[in-house]
Amino acid sequence: MAQRIVVVGGGAAGMGAAGAARGADPSADVRVYTEFEDVGYSPCGIPYVHGKEIPDFERLFLATREAYAGQGIDIHYETRVTGFSAEHKTVSVHGEGEIGYDRLIVATGFNYASPGVPGADLDGLYYVKNIRRAIEWDKVLDGVRAAVVVEASPLGLEMVTALCHRGIETHLIDPGAWALSVATDPDIIAPVQESWQEKGAKLHFNTTLKGFVGEGSLRAVATSAGEIACDLAVVCTKKEANTSLARAAGLRIGSAGGLIVDERMHTSAPGVWAAGDCIEVPHSVTDIPIQGLSGSHAYSQGKVAGTNAAGGDRRYQPVSVPWGMVAGDWMIGGVSFSETLATALGIPHVVGVAEGISRARYYPGVEKVRVKLLAEPGSLRLIGAQMVGREGIKERADFLAMAVRTGITINDLATMENVYSPPIGALNEPIALAAQSLLAGLGS
Ligand SMILES: Cc1cc2nc3c(=O)[nH]c(=O)nc-3n(C[C@H](O)[C@H](O)[C@H](O)COP(=O)(O)OP(=O)(O)OC[C@H]3O[C@@H](n4cnc5c(N)ncnc54)[C@H](O)[C@@H]3O)c2cc1C
Repeated sequence: MAQRIVVVGGGAAGMGAAGAARGADPSADVRVYTEFEDVGYSPCGIPYVHGKEIPDFERLFLATREAYAGQGIDIHYETRVTGFSAEHKTVSVHGEGEIGYDRLIVATGFNYASPGVPGADLDGLYYVKNIRRAIEWDKVLDGVRAAVVVEASPLGLEMVTALCHRGIETHLIDPGAWALSVATDPDIIAPVQESWQEKGAKLHFNTTLKGFVGEGSLRAVATSAGEIACDLAVVCTKKEANTSLARAAGLRIGSAGGLIVDERMHTSAPGVWAAGDCIEVPHSVTDIPIQGLSGSHAYSQGKVAGTNAAGGDRRYQPVSVPWGMVAGDWMIGGVSFSETLATALGIPHVVGVAEGISRARYYPGVEKVRVKLLAEPGSLRLIGAQMVGREGIKERADFLAMAVRTGITINDLATMENVYSPPIGALNEPIALAAQSLLAGLGS
């Protein structure tokens, strides 16, 4: 008889798992449960539809319901799983009762951390996630005069940029001293903040949220620096692992708040795998578990979980976390640790910084690229990087993540080979310049 694989979650992890399970065992009966109306869309594109860079939401849908059915994946939409038992191999499904399974994959994703202040139930608070709600909120945005973005998280940065593009009076509040202060250093984020200010954004750093104010609907956001009048608050707080089902079923939760899994994405319960923002995985430099990574991590983890649940063998490696995004008029990105984070965690490091260029200096469109590299003292093994520029940031972040993973040193980077072609690359690669600057600082 075909094995029954049940997936709870229709996000990047759940759909990656479902597809991989069918790939590993084409005869498997794969069923996905999701609370949402849709699967197979990219939430990552939502801020860019709000900002009008992408003309419509339709483009964010990657596959139709029929396409998934054609792949043999049985998706139960708008269907809430209320519990599961690893012992009895059953899931409890609202409206369907107890459903048996052979293998279970938990991919329940994340919830935004509760703001934990009065007024969080008022109308006018937007949590960007479900595409149907985003389509509704997009219409609301047409009538919004002033908005407050709560917290300068990656989504917060995207939403500040989007709301500015939309012509809305945009405020950003964050308890940190600069935007994305966990992942970036002030010199990297400074051009972004300047470009937001040129667009009219008002930045309120070192400012904590005290409450949402209004009668039924939001009228202002109360902060440690006073009230900000607004019609809308976009809540961009930290992503927390949604582990409520798994906790109730007795699965082990780790120090970062995510489900503990092994390298095959198997949880502490027999026959139960997990993937995506509901789990935690070790960092490649520190081995410390981390949680709340990106959609690309969730998708890869899903594929590992799905393959293994269906009887295959696939492993997931510790992560070095490349990241990158457009914020204001700039691209920023990096890998692993910023100087600020390494210092806060007590990780010893040496730093090299350089400003290079993205194309030949005479080629139209050439832009500055600032690169900062962090290395372990002594071995000079690369442990972190950050960049700001206007092009080529993603590719450098991906490359540097592989460099961190494979133990590349600053000496390697200082003498790296690079492409020189006037429209796409300068004679001197900015990464190599930053590595040479680090060595020069050490007197090497
Ligand atoms: C606005 C936005 C922008 C983003 N931008 C980027 C980006 O630029 N780059 C990037 O890499 N990633 C991006 N992401 C991805 C994101 O940050 C997450 O990493 C990703 O969504 C995690 O996928 P997941 O499948 O683990 O969880 P989720 O996407 O949270 O999906 C969880 C799924 O579980 C289901 N579920 C939960 N509980 C139950 C239950 N009890 N019963 C039934 N179903 C349940 C939900 O319905 C949902 O389908 C963005 C996400 C958002 C929302």
